[in-house]
Amino acid sequence: ITAGGDPAQQVDEYIQSNKVMIFSKSYCPFCNKVKTLFKSLDVEYTALELDQVDNGSEIQAALIDKSGQKTVPNIYINGEHLGGADKTFETHSRGELLPLINKAKHNYDYDLIVIGGGSGGLAASKQAADLGAKVAVCDFVTPTPKGTTWGLGGTCVNVGCIPKKLMHQAAILGHELKDSREYGWGIPEDVTHDWSKMVEAIQSHIGSLNWGYRVALRNKKVDYLNAYATFEDPHTLRTVDRRGKEKMITSDNFLIATGGRPRYPDIPGAKEYCITSDDLFSLPYAPGKTLLVGASYIALECAGFLAGLGYDTTVMVRSILLRGFDQQVAERIGTYMEQHGVKFIRGAVPTLIEQIEEGSPGLYRVTGKTTEGEEVVDEYNTIILAVGRDPCTSGIGLENINVELAKNGKVIVDNAERSSVPHVYAVGDIIEGGLELTPVAIQAGKLLAKRLYGNGKLLTDYVNVPTTVFTPLEYGCCGLSEEEAINKYGEGDIEVYHSNYIPLEHTIAHRPENDCYAKLVCVTSENEKVVGFHVLGPNAGEITQGFSIGLKLGATKADFDNLVGIHPTTAEVFTTLNVTKKSGQDVNAQGC
Ligand code: FAD
Ligand code: NDP
Repeated sequence: ITAGGDPAQQVDEYIQSNKVMIFSKSYCPFCNKVKTLFKSLDVEYTALELDQVDNGSEIQAALIDKSGQKTVPNIYINGEHLGGADKTFETHSRGELLPLINKAKHNYDYDLIVIGGGSGGLAASKQAADLGAKVAVCDFVTPTPKGTTWGLGGTCVNVGCIPKKLMHQAAILGHELKDSREYGWGIPEDVTHDWSKMVEAIQSHIGSLNWGYRVALRNKKVDYLNAYATFEDPHTLRTVDRRGKEKMITSDNFLIATGGRPRYPDIPGAKEYCITSDDLFSLPYAPGKTLLVGASYIALECAGFLAGLGYDTTVMVRSILLRGFDQQVAERIGTYMEQHGVKFIRGAVPTLIEQIEEGSPGLYRVTGKTTEGEEVVDEYNTIILAVGRDPCTSGIGLENINVELAKNGKVIVDNAERSSVPHVYAVGDIIEGGLELTPVAIQAGKLLAKRLYGNGKLLTDYVNVPTTVFTPLEYGCCGLSEEEAINKYGEGDIEVYHSNYIPLEHTIAHRPENDCYAKLVCVTSENEKVVGFHVLGPNAGEITQGFSIGLKLGATKADFDNLVGIHPTTAEVFTTLNVTKKSGQDVNAQGC
C-alpha cells in the first residue's frame, strides 16, 4: 500500500490486493463477529483496524465516499462491496458467501467440468454445485464388444457393486432357503431359480437409480451431457453425443473421473466369444456352465454367486487367489468355495476360445495352458473374463494437454488429486496409487470439490480403508495382511490373534463348524496396536465397517479386549480373541 498516499487511493489498493478485505475497528463487536465467522470458514482475510492507523479517519472518510456506508465493518470481496456485518451473515445464511469468495474470474463456460458420471464424478459435481460453482458432467458409456450399455452412475451402480451385491444376495437366499428347512419351514426340495426374473428385478432397480442421478443433477443445476468428452486444448473439451453431434465447451477447472473397463487378454476368441462383468449383470439368458478367468475380487465374487444360484462354475487361476489380500484368508475362501461346488483350475491361463455352437447361451471350447506346459481343454456355455481393468485414459486427448500418465495408463496425481496440469484433477479408479473402490472415489471427489470451492483443507486418506470381498463367505478386512505386516515390522514384532467361529444361526442349520475366521494382526512393540483386521463370515462387510474406525483411531489389542461384546453376534468374537498364532493352540470355536 502506497505509504503516505492519497487515502482514496489507499482504500482502492487495499480492496484490489485482498480477496477478502475488512475495514474494521479493533474494539467493535460486530467487526469481531465477522472475523470469527471468516475464521470458522477457514477464509483468509485482511483486516485494517482504522482505530490503530494514523490516518484511520481519512481512510474511513474515503470509504464512505466510495461505498456509501458509514459504519464498520465495511467488507469488500473480490473487489466488490459486500456491506457490513448484517449483510455478511445474511449472505452466509443463504449459502452464498463462500461462492462469492471462491468465485474465480474467468470467461469460460463453466467453473468445473467433470468427465465421467460415476461414483467420483457425481460426488464431486454435486458437492461443487452445492458450493456455488457452475458445473457440467459429461458421461458416456462406450458399448462392450457384445453391445451392452447402461445409464448414468458409472461402474458401481450399473455393472459393479450394486448388481454384484444383489446377485450375491440371491445366492445367499438360496443357501438360507435350505437352512430354513431345519428351522421348520416346509420348503420343497425342488425349488428353482429364475435367472431372467432376477436380472429383470435388478435392472429395474438400476433404472430407478439412473433416473435418480439425473434428477439430482438437475436439482443441483449441474448440466448433464450424455456425450463422450475429449480434450481439445487445456481449457476446451470436444463432446460428441450418441447421434454424433459435436459441441465445444470450456472450463476453468477439469476433473477426470473416467473409471476403468475390463481388460481382454490377447488370445483368439476373447472379444468374439467371451463376456465380462460389464455384460453379466444384464445377461438376458441363464449363463449355464460357466468359466471365470482370473482370481481376484471380480472372478471370485461372480463365481461365488453363480455357483450359489446353481450353475456349474469353474475358476481358472493364473497364480494365487486374491493377490494383495491376506493369503491365509484367501486360501480359506478358496477351500470354502470348493466345498460348495466351485471348481478351480490352478496355475493355468486360457490360450484359445472357439465357438462350438451358437445360441443363448452358446457352447465354447476353451484351451488353456498350465505353468507346467500341459494343455487343459473343456467346454463351457459362458466364459467371463475378469483379468483386471484398464483405466479409461486413452482416447480422451490427455496427450493434447500433457497430463502425465503412469506406465499402466493411470493418472499421476499429488496428494490433493492434482495432475501434472494444475487445473486438471483426477479421482477414482484412474489414479495411480489409489484404491479401486466406490467410497474412495466418492470421498476423493467430495473433498476435492470442498477444497476447490469451499475452502476445505482435508485431503483424502488412502490408508486403512476397509473393504469386503463378497464371496459366499464374505471377507472383510482393514489395514495390513499378515504378510504385509511381517514385511513392514519383521516377524518377531508381529503377534497374530485368531479364532475360528460358528455363527449361532448356522448351528441349527448344521452348517460346518469352523468355516468362519477372525484375525487381528498386532505390532508388539507398539503396545499391540492392531494394524490388520480380518474377518471371514456372514455380514463381514457390516462388521468391518464398524471396527475400521478403531483401526483409524489406533486401537490396540487391549482396546478390543476391553470392548464389551454384543451377544449373540459373530462380531463379538473380536472382543475375546486370546489364542496367538505363534502358540499353535487350537483355534476351533469353543461354543457359545
Ligand atoms: P466409474 O464409476 O467407472 O465412472 C466412470 C464413468 O465415466 C463411466 O460412466 C464411463 O462410462 C464414463 N466415461 C469414461 N470415459 C468417458 C469420456 N471420455 N467421456 C464421458 N464419459 C466417460 N467397489 C466397492 O467399493 N465395492 C464393491 O462391492 C465393488 N464391486 C465391484 C464389482 C465389479 C464387478 C466391478 C467392476 C467393480 C466393483 N467395485 C466395487 C469398484 C467400483 O465400482 C469402482 O471403484 C467405482 O465405480 C469407480 O468410480 P469412478 O468414479 O472412478 O469411475
Ligand atoms: P485385479 O487386477 O485385482 O485382478 C486380476 C486377476 O486376473 C488376478 O487374479 C490376475 O492374476 C488375473 N489375471 C491377469 N491377467 C491374466 C491373464 N492374462 N490370464 C489369466 N489371469 C489373469 O482385477 P479385478 O478385475 O478382479 O478387480 C479390479 C478392482 O476392482 C479391484 O482391485 C477392486 O479394487 C475393485 N473391486 C472391488 C470389489 C469390492 O470391493 N468387493 C469387487 C470387485 C472389484 P495374478 O494374480 O496372477 O496377476
